[in-house]
Amino acid sequence: MSEQEKLKDYDSEPIAFCAKCYSLKIKHEDSLDIDYCGECGCSEIKEAPVHVWENLYEQKYGKKYVVKGNDPKKNPIFKLPLGKLMQKFADLKQWKDITLSLYPRFPGGFGKADSIVLLFDKLVKDNKLDALRIKMMEYIKG
Ligand SMILES: [Zn+2]
Repeated sequence: MSEQEKLKDYDSEPIAFCAKCYSLKIKHEDSLDIDYCGECGCSEIKEAPVHVWENLYEQKYGKKYVVKGNDPKKNPIFKLPLGKLMQKFADLKQWKDITLSLYPRFPGGFGKADSIVLLFDKLVKDNKLDALRIKMMEYIKG
């Protein structure tokens, strides 16, 4: 795949975000089985391709979404090999929130290690690894 195709691919991946403040920090409330925004608490979650979300964000805040002064696509997290990415993901205490924000109906009942293997298997099949990377950046940032 050429660089341009990869970028196009990245751009068409859907990502979940808060309908109100456009945060990507979506959390899941198990007892009510609903998703809500970790920033403003809004429970209206939208899904759109990454570039659509980026445009919405820019319109609302008058600036592009940036992570530590960098284009998200240039963040080191995009250069991690799969094994290292999995390790980094496992180290995040919000790994479950991120999993559920990508797959709201992700099966429970598995241990952490099995869940992560299952998640990555699904992400690779669905070509959604970049959506995971973007989510991870958001959570690492705090
Ligand atoms: Zn919000």
